[in-house]
Amino acid sequence: MDEPDTDRAEAIPAAEAFGILGNETRTEILRALVERDDEAPLSFSELREAVGTGDSGRFNYHLQQLVGHFVEHDEDGYAFRYHGRRIAHAILAGTFTDRARVAPAPAPGACYACGAEALEGSYENETLTIRCTACEERIVSVPFSPAAVRGRTPAEVFAAFDRWSTAQANLAAGGVCPECTGHMDGRVTTDVADYLDFDVLPRFECRVCRRTATTSFGSVALNHPAVQSFHHRHDAYPRQRPYWTIPQLVSDRHTEVLSEDPWRVRVAFPIEDGPRVEATIDGSVAVVGVTEHVDG
Ligand SMILES: [Zn+2]
Ligand SMILES: [Zn+2]
Repeated sequence: MDEPDTDRAEAIPAAEAFGILGNETRTEILRALVERDDEAPLSFSELREAVGTGDSGRFNYHLQQLVGHFVEHDEDGYAFRYHGRRIAHAILAGTFTDRARVAPAPAPGACYACGAEALEGSYENETLTIRCTACEERIVSVPFSPAAVRGRTPAEVFAAFDRWSTAQANLAAGGVCPECTGHMDGRVTTDVADYLDFDVLPRFECRVCRRTATTSFGSVALNHPAVQSFHHRHDAYPRQRPYWTIPQLVSDRHTEVLSEDPWRVRVAFPIEDGPRVEATIDGSVAVVGVTEHVDG
C-alpha cells in the first residue's frame, strides 16, 4: 500500500534522464512548450517553428527522445508531462540570474536580540542574510534562489524571502517536501550551524528526494490551531511580522528542552505583561500538548 506499482513503473535511472536533457534542441523544445500562452498541445510543425530548426528529421529525433518521461503525444499534439514542465520552469528560472546580488539595504522589523530597528538585508553567493547593524547579530543566512532577485527592489526581495521561508517551514512541518511533495519525517537534531542561536532544532527529511529542511520549534508551534487560536483571541498575530523578528523562530529564547530521551521541547509565546501559550513538541516534531497560562 505504501508504494503503489505505478510509482515504480514511472521511474527511469537518473543518468538516463540527464542524458535525455543533455542537448540544446531538447531543452529548447521544453522552453517552447512552457512559453506557450495557453495549455493546449503544440503540433509537430508549431513546435518545430518555435524551436527554429531547419532539419525536420533531426528535430523529430530529438523530440522523440523527450516523449515518454518528459513530453506526451496524442492526436492533439505534444504537451508536457509533469517532470517536463518542472524542468522547463527550472530552465527559465535559472536563466538571466547569474551573479544576482542585493547590496546591503534596510530590512523591516526590530532585532530580536537588542531591539534596535537597525536590520540590514543582503543577497550574495546565492545566500540571503539578515543582520543587525546595532549589535552585529547575524540573524538568518539562508540559501535562496537567484530568481527571487530578478525585477524586485531590495524591500520586495526581503518580503519574498519572508513568505518563501514561512511557506517552506509550513510544508515541512506538515510532512510535505517543498522540493518534490514527497513524505517528510521530522526529528530533533543537535547538528546546528554555529552562528544560529540554537542548540537543538527540528529537521525534516524527504523519503523520496532526500531534501532536508531545518526549521524551528517556534515555527512548528505557530502552525498548531490552539496556538493560533490563542493569538487570535488576544489580538496578537506574530506571523504578520517578518519571521526574523519573532524571537521563537530565530533563537532559543522561550524554548526549553524538557527531556532528551524521549525528546520533549517546550516553546512559549508570552504576551507582554499578560498571558502566554506553551506548546510541547516530541522527537518526531509533533505538537503533543498546548497549555495556556493567564497569570503572565
Ligand atoms: Zn541587534
Ligand atoms: Zn522530496
